[in-house]
Amino acid sequence: MSFKLGLVVFVVSAHAATLHDRFNAQQAYAYTAQIAGFGERWPGSPGHKKTEDLIHQVLQKDGARIEADDFTATTPRGPIAVHNIIGKFNAGADPKQPILILAGHYDTLFQPGFIGANDGGSSTAILLSFADALAGQKMTMQVWLVWTDLEEAINSFTGDDGLYGSRHLAQKLAANGTRSRVRGFFLLDMIGDKQLGVAREVGSDRRLQDFMARAAGQLGYGQYFFQYESDIIDDHVPFIRIGIPAVDVVDAQFGRMGRAFDSMGEFHHADTDTMDKVSQHSLEVVGRTMLLTVELMDK
Ligand SMILES: [Zn+2]
Repeated sequence: MSFKLGLVVFVVSAHAATLHDRFNAQQAYAYTAQIAGFGERWPGSPGHKKTEDLIHQVLQKDGARIEADDFTATTPRGPIAVHNIIGKFNAGADPKQPILILAGHYDTLFQPGFIGANDGGSSTAILLSFADALAGQKMTMQVWLVWTDLEEAINSFTGDDGLYGSRHLAQKLAANGTRSRVRGFFLLDMIGDKQLGVAREVGSDRRLQDFMARAAGQLGYGQYFFQYESDIIDDHVPFIRIGIPAVDVVDAQFGRMGRAFDSMGEFHHADTDTMDKVSQHSLEVVGRTMLLTVELMDK
């Protein structure tokens, strides 16, 4: 005797938007404009406080678990209060649940008149839009959004000047045993540039860059990524040093390049880093690519 089992397949017709389709570029651009409108945002400034408040508001609205990593940094300017902000999404009870980190600095240079629409503004804003996309989404990994503070050097990126917040957080993850759970760390920096070109940063993890290249290729964005190489000191470095695979997702050519300009372009650390240099399309390309990268890594 044999049974013939009729297999009934229920097709769920309601199309649930994938994570990368939930990225709202218009909102990301609006966040960037709002943050740039806060003015200078070095630690201790009114604009810095307003940015912190906005990050907390969005994280609360999106249901993240919010954690603070606060400390006092010793700097050439004297002691400075530093506030890294962490928003955890999909954090379950399993102490071994893998973690993926997307980060970006929210401070700006100590330079009166510098508002950093792209350098500081775009990275802060794209993470806020990631929070909006991640709200209520279920996946295997936890996703941490990390707004690092006091990335910028007081004088110059030599010795122990610069990367204050990220160095502190990396040491914390190494000391408390979280490090081994972190599958990857992506740092976003200056990715709102109208003339978008994300560098292949040579100190970054190649395997993670390959995930990004796959995501970009699937979305038809291949031409915006890895068309030139660059070697950059940024907030990903302290995480690489403690053994976490990390990538600097950075557009290292901001405006015209050449001897007359800063090594990262004419608008880098210049008062001309304003909203007219930022585009919604660039935020969309990077935002969708990074969220599809998260999806690919979650499999
Ligand atoms: Zn900078």
